[in-house]
Amino acid sequence: MPVLRDMEIGLMFWAGPDPVATIQNVKALGLRCGQLGIPGDYILDAAAWKAALDAEGFTIVTVFAGYNGESYADIPTVQRTVGWIPAPTRAEREKRTYEISDFAAAIGVASIALHVGFVPEDKSDADYIAVRDMVRRVADYAANNGQSFALESGQEPAPVLLNFFEDVSRPNLRINFDPANLILYGSGEPIEALGLLAKHVVTVHCKDGNWPPKDQPGALGTEMALGQGSVGIDKFIAKLKEIGYRGPLTIEREIEDQKQKLEDIKMAIGLLERLRA
Ligand code: MG
Repeated sequence: MPVLRDMEIGLMFWAGPDPVATIQNVKALGLRCGQLGIPGDYILDAAAWKAALDAEGFTIVTVFAGYNGESYADIPTVQRTVGWIPAPTRAEREKRTYEISDFAAAIGVASIALHVGFVPEDKSDADYIAVRDMVRRVADYAANNGQSFALESGQEPAPVLLNFFEDVSRPNLRINFDPANLILYGSGEPIEALGLLAKHVVTVHCKDGNWPPKDQPGALGTEMALGQGSVGIDKFIAKLKEIGYRGPLTIEREIEDQKQKLEDIKMAIGLLERLRA
């Protein structure tokens, strides 16, 4: 895998049936790195992925675990279906996460990440305790695989996440900071949150969005093309430089329209090239 530059631009992309074709689609954008999302029902074939990465000279920075049954339709649906907060799927998702960690290790990736779901604020809450203990177990498992374990930011306010980190107390537990999520979930001003969480940030998503509509409780905000939402991507990159972040700038764009998605990603690459300079 190639050695990356500081703030190298990459893409968050999802594993398709053919690893070579999946990687070539990302390379066609002129990129050499990315974060690989693994759908819940994806059959993990580390040998095929390792061969594809070696052949294509491509770096995967993080392997992201998705789970069967997750939906991001609105905030109540996220609370009910995403990550480790839903109790009925917790054990199955823990097992899957260990498989993801082993898969990442086998293809030479030193970080795994996921959306843990909405972490409750109340430390005596049963879900809080169960998820905290599971985070500790997975962090320790990842550490044995030589990996950091990153939680995606933004479904809870930064101070709640910070308290959670202090309580979990595992050095390899880190944050994949997504500035748009804080806006989409209405959980706080992202640049300020980045300052607060800075010491835990290992990777970032470059994603943009607008705040949820005030007259629709439970609604999510709207994801936007990079630079067209409320994050202030210029301020975000400036803040990353200020906190000494040197990792990749991983573009994330999740919309159904594949043609528009491609246009937006190309535009985002151009924008980030100017801002990182
Ligand atoms: Mg994200």
